[in-house]
Amino acid sequence: MRLSEYKGKQLLRQYGILTPKTFHVRNTDEVKAAINVIGDNAVIKAMIPIGGRGKAGLVKIINGIEDAILKSNDIIGKEHSGHLVKDLIIESFISIEHEYYLSIIHDDILHCPVLMFSIDGGVDIEEIAMNTPERIIKIPISIMDGYIVTPIKEIAIMKGVPASIAIKIEKVSWILSKLFIEKDLILAEINPLALDNKGQIIAADCKLEIDDSAIFRHPEYFGDVEKELSFEEKRAKKLGSTLIPLEDGDVGIICNGAGMGMAMLDLFKKYNIRPANFLDSGGGITKEKARKICDIMFEMKDLKALIINLWGSITLLDKVAFGIIESLEFNKPDFPVIARLQGNGMEEAMKLLEDKGIQVARVTDTEDAIKILAQVIKKRGL
Ligand code: GDP
Ligand code: MN
Repeated sequence: MRLSEYKGKQLLRQYGILTPKTFHVRNTDEVKAAINVIGDNAVIKAMIPIGGRGKAGLVKIINGIEDAILKSNDIIGKEHSGHLVKDLIIESFISIEHEYYLSIIHDDILHCPVLMFSIDGGVDIEEIAMNTPERIIKIPISIMDGYIVTPIKEIAIMKGVPASIAIKIEKVSWILSKLFIEKDLILAEINPLALDNKGQIIAADCKLEIDDSAIFRHPEYFGDVEKELSFEEKRAKKLGSTLIPLEDGDVGIICNGAGMGMAMLDLFKKYNIRPANFLDSGGGITKEKARKICDIMFEMKDLKALIINLWGSITLLDKVAFGIIESLEFNKPDFPVIARLQGNGMEEAMKLLEDKGIQVARVTDTEDAIKILAQVIKKRGL
C-alpha cells in the first residue's frame, strides 16, 4: 500500500528527516486556511499515488491566497494516468539550489534492499536511469537492520557533493534505511532530495510503500488500506477474494489462486489480449460465493469479455456452476463469457454452463483456453 504524500512526509518527519510544512486540502476554504499558516510563498501539488506530476503541470508554485485558489481550482478534477485529482497538498516553498535522488527498493538480483543515490535528482530521473544508469549508484543494505554496507558520504563526495552536504545526505540515508526496515517498506523514494539556499537537505517529495503482506504489523495504517480500495475491491475483499484492477484493459479474469492469475496475465500478453482486472476467488468457492463473485464482474459495464478459469479440488465445480448461472441470469451481461474448468465435478459443471449458452473451453491447458479467448475477442474486433 502506497502512503499518500501527506502521510509519507509525516512519517519522514517522525524519524527526523526535514520536509516542508505540509497541509492536505480538498477545497477553497482549506486552501485559504493552509496559506494563512504557511504564508504566501507556497507550492501546490496534486496528491495522487504516482509521480510525473511536475511534467504534467500538477505541481505549481503559488504566491498568495488568490493565486492559490486559482491554481488549486485548475488542478482539482484533472486526470493523470488514470488518477482523478481530488486531494491536494499545499506546502511551504523551498528555495531549491540542487536536486538529489535517494531511494530504497528490494533488488531481485542481489536479494537484499538497495539504496540508490544520484546527484541528478528531479523530474528527469527516469531518463537518467534509462540512458545513463551509471549516474545512479546502488549500495546494498542489510535486511536485518538497514545497515548500509558502503557509507554514502565518500561516494557523494567523489561525485562532487561538498563534504558538509554529503554528511547530511548520509544522515538522511541512515534514517531512511532504518525506516524502510522498521515499517516493512517495499519502496522508499525521495525525489527530489532538495538542497535549499540555507544548506539544509529536505525531502521535497516522497513515495513510501508498505508491503501489503506486512500491513498487519502496522495497525496505524489499517484505515488507509480500506480507503484506498475501490467499491468493487471492497466487495471482493468481503468475500475473501482479491480483485486487482488493471489499467486500459478489455477482459476480466476470474481464477482461483493468484499464481494462476499471474500465469494468465503472461499468456494474455503472449496472445495480445489486454486484461482489465483479475479476481482471485480465494479457496473454497461455494455456490453463493460464486454468485457474488460473478455479480461483481457482470456488473462491470466496460468489460468486453470475461474468462473464468477454475481448478476444482475441495471446490466442487458443479456447485460453482450453479452460482455462475444464477448471476448470469440475473445480470445478463452483454459480453461473452468463456469458462475453463478442471477437476472435481468438471463434467457436470461444463454441461450445466453449456446448457445456458456459456462457451466452455473443453481443454486441459490454460493456454489453450486463452487461445480460444483470443479468437472470440478477434471476432468482436478488439
Ligand atoms: P513529481 O513530478 O510527481 O515527482 O512531483 P514533485 O513533488 O517531485 O515535484 C516536481 C518538481 O517540482 C520538483 O522536482 C521540483 O523541481 C519542483 N518543486 C516541487 N516543490 C518545490 C519547491 O518547494 N520549490 C521549488 N523551487 N521547486 C519545487
Ligand atoms: Mn518527485
